[in-house]
Amino acid sequence: MTRDLADFKARLPVVEIVRRYVRLVRNGPLHKGLCPFHREKTPSFTVTESRGTYHCFGCGAHGNALDFLMAIEGLDFAESSRRRAVRPIPEATADAR
Ligand SMILES: [Zn+2]
Repeated sequence: MTRDLADFKARLPVVEIVRRYVRLVRNGPLHKGLCPFHREKTPSFTVTESRGTYHCFGCGAHGNALDFLMAIEGLDFAESSRRRAVRPIPEATADAR
C-alpha cells in the first residue's frame, strides 16, 4: 500500500504539479516560468517533462514532482507561521505562578 503510493507519487507528472503554482510556457523540451522559490522578473525556472524534474538557474532549486510539492507546501507553512507570529500573543503566563 505504502509502496504503491510512493510509486504513484514518483510517477506524478511534474509539469501538471508545477503548473498549479507556476505559470509555465513551453520552450522546446522544457517548460519555463518564474521561480516560486525566489523573487525574479525573468524566468529561470525550468521543468524537464521527459526527466520529471525541475531546476532553477537562479537559486539552484532542483528535484522531482514530490520534491516540488514538499518544497512549495513547506513555503506555504512557513508563510502562515510567520503571519501567526505577527499577531499579538495573549498573556497566558499570569496564572501559571
Ligand atoms: Zn529560483
